[in-house]
Amino acid sequence: MTFKELVVAYFQYPAIIAYLVLSAAMFGVYAWQPAPLVPSLISAVVAVAFYPLAWYVLHRWVLHGQWMYKFKAFAPVWKRIHYDHHQDPNHLEVLFGALYTTLPTIVIFLAPIGYAIGGIGGMAMALAMGLLTTCFYEFCHCIQHLKYKPRAKWLALMKARHMAHHFHDESGNFGITNFFWDKAFGTFYERPDRQEKSETVFNLGYTPEVAKHYPWVAKLSGGVATGHPSQRAQG
Ligand SMILES: [Zn+2]
Ligand SMILES: [Zn+2]
Ligand SMILES: [Zn+2]
Repeated sequence: MTFKELVVAYFQYPAIIAYLVLSAAMFGVYAWQPAPLVPSLISAVVAVAFYPLAWYVLHRWVLHGQWMYKFKAFAPVWKRIHYDHHQDPNHLEVLFGALYTTLPTIVIFLAPIGYAIGGIGGMAMALAMGLLTTCFYEFCHCIQHLKYKPRAKWLALMKARHMAHHFHDESGNFGITNFFWDKAFGTFYERPDRQEKSETVFNLGYTPEVAKHYPWVAKLSGGVATGHPSQRAQG
């Protein structure tokens, strides 16, 4: 896949179009009810700076938290937004986050902060920047998973670290674009740091044994798949 093909695939994805349209709408709200320059800048910077921490917390303690599949109500969501992605990491349809989870998350985290900093205008700015940052995250995630070899060294490193999260040990490298919080919380690793491959890297701990107690994800998935994704029939 060339870079151009990757960009084309990316912009065709409905969620990306939705983020871009909504972020344009938020800039519209900002133009209608602008905040002064300094609060606007602070809102924008806070939204972008806060994002990697929010993602880290969600990825580590929600998506890998071993509790979502235990509740019937959360099991389908968990399956859609993370279990399926680890089961088959290069499958495009589940590569992107689901709007019904990403949009409320962005609003819950950023609307109050933006409003506190700069009223309606500050809130609109924070949401617009949060949506654009989401687009950036999804773009990097595309680079990491699609058959594209980045030439830039920082992108190649970013890809290698996320690949380690998917194919070596899922209990580290939770960042997508930014591994600052992994380093701060001690979950950052390079492949040679961890000799043993994790046995739960594809099933996230949702083993056939666990499925006996919490069957909802298995029911929705037609059983519990084991083994390497490339050796399983692609659904
Ligand atoms: Zn991934
Ligand atoms: Zn993960
Ligand atoms: Zn048991």
